[in-house]
This record gives sequence, structure tokens and C-alpha cells, in this order.
Amino acid sequence: MAIQPDFDWFEVREFSDGIIGIGEPGHFEDVKSFLIAGDDQALLIDTGMGYANIRAIVEHCSDKPVLMVNSHGHLDHIGDNWRFERRWAHPGDLDRIRAGVPNERMQHFLAPEAFSRPMPPELDPKTFQIPGTDIERTIDEGDEIDLGGRVFRVLHTPGHSAGSISFFEEDAGILIAGDAIYEGPLFAHHEGGSAKQYRSTVQRLAQLVPQLSVVYPSHNRYPLEPSFIVHLRDAMEQIWNGREADTIVDGTARFEFGEFSFTFRESWRDDP
Ligand SMILES: [Zn+2]
Repeated sequence: MAIQPDFDWFEVREFSDGIIGIGEPGHFEDVKSFLIAGDDQALLIDTGMGYANIRAIVEHCSDKPVLMVNSHGHLDHIGDNWRFERRWAHPGDLDRIRAGVPNERMQHFLAPEAFSRPMPPELDPKTFQIPGTDIERTIDEGDEIDLGGRVFRVLHTPGHSAGSISFFEEDAGILIAGDAIYEGPLFAHHEGGSAKQYRSTVQRLAQLVPQLSVVYPSHNRYPLEPSFIVHLRDAMEQIWNGREADTIVDGTARFEFGEFSFTFRESWRDDP
């Protein structure tokens, strides 16, 4: 018997290009996972917070066999990994995905003020944890994910984390960017993050802009116009060329640019 999808928690948006966004707007992370069905299989990019059953949503939207690929290993993208059998990811974030997240480290994300909607009924903040999951296959720059009629190329886009990847459908000019690109606070100060690599990534993605028709980011407003990447690139160059941080708090430097900001370690110039 199919489980009833929780449309009170998940906000599903299907776009004319066949990309299905599965958002969780009731939590401050406002994370999106993405589902794209081809003729042979469906690609699920990320599994969200894990607070409600994303697999029920996926099965409601497509009857194809599902391949789940993580854009990276941060907790807001791997929460429901355990519900899927086929899981791929970049080697750079494997340790994080395998480790999962214990309940103690989830507390900031489970506090009442983290929610702007009622919590899903099955979520118990006292016990919730993200189980570690094994990865069936690692993928890297240049690998192709063929769904049957639609092909996505993997771009290694590190900076936010070492194992961050984006997905480029060249035929349609679609970029599903993961956390490399989004409006709001962008950051590379966590373990595995690197401001230097982030700079290379936005430079590289900015060069792709003439080939893009649309960008799907994993947080906040979406989809985004491709020119947004150029703004990110230009902002990063300003930082590189000496723009002063707007704030430095507890060893992290924050640079404000209106609709987005960057947060790096104070020692970001020494990043690998
Ligand atoms: Zn994220």
C-alpha cells in the first residue's frame, strides 16, 4: 500500500522543462530536492531534511526506478537517503554521508523556531537522527547520468564542500547547481569548504552562462536566471581583490551583497 505523501510539509513544483522541485519551505533551511524522470529511470537529486517521507512524494510523481544522487553531504541534503536503495555521490563527501548525523547535532535544526509550519506528525525532535548510508557508486567530473532521453553531466563544483557536484543537461541548458549557487547566505567555512575552490567554481559556472537557460539552486528562491551566477562571480572577485568583510564574528568573515552573502573562515586566503 502506498504511503500518503505529506503535501503539508513538501511543496512540489513541476516546471515546463520536466524538472520537479520538492521543497521544504516550513523549515528555515528552505531546501529543495529535485526529481527528473527519463524514459528508463528517474533521478532524485538529494533527499532533504528527512523530517517527512520524501520517497512517498517521489513515488507519487514517477513510477520509474529511482537513482538517488547527493549534490553533497551536508545534513539538509541527505536526511532521507536511507529510504533509497541506489545512492551515488562524489567521493569528497563520502565520510559525511556514511557517518550520518546524531540527534545531538540536529538540535539547532529541530528547535521550535526552526519551523514556520507545523512539524510533520511523525517527526520526534527528541529522537530524530540521520542514519549514515553507504554509497553504491562514486561519481565525478564528466560522468554522465543517462535517464533515457535525458542526460545530465556531472560537474565537480567544490568550495561549499569538497564533494559538491552540479548537474548539467547540455541539450536543454539546465543547471541543477546544488549549493554552489543560490540566493541567501552562501558559505565555505565548514570543514571541507574552501573559499579558493568556491572562487574557481563560480568562475567556471559563469563561463557556462551563455549555454544556460535556467538554474535550479537547492535553497531559497527558484529557479534562478543564469545571469545570477555572473553576479556571484563578480562579488567573489571583489572579495579576492581586497574588499573588506562586513563582519568578522567567531573566526568567520561575512561579505554582504544584498540578495546574497558569502561566509568564509577569517583565514580564507589560506584555504586549500
Ligand atoms: Zn544546503
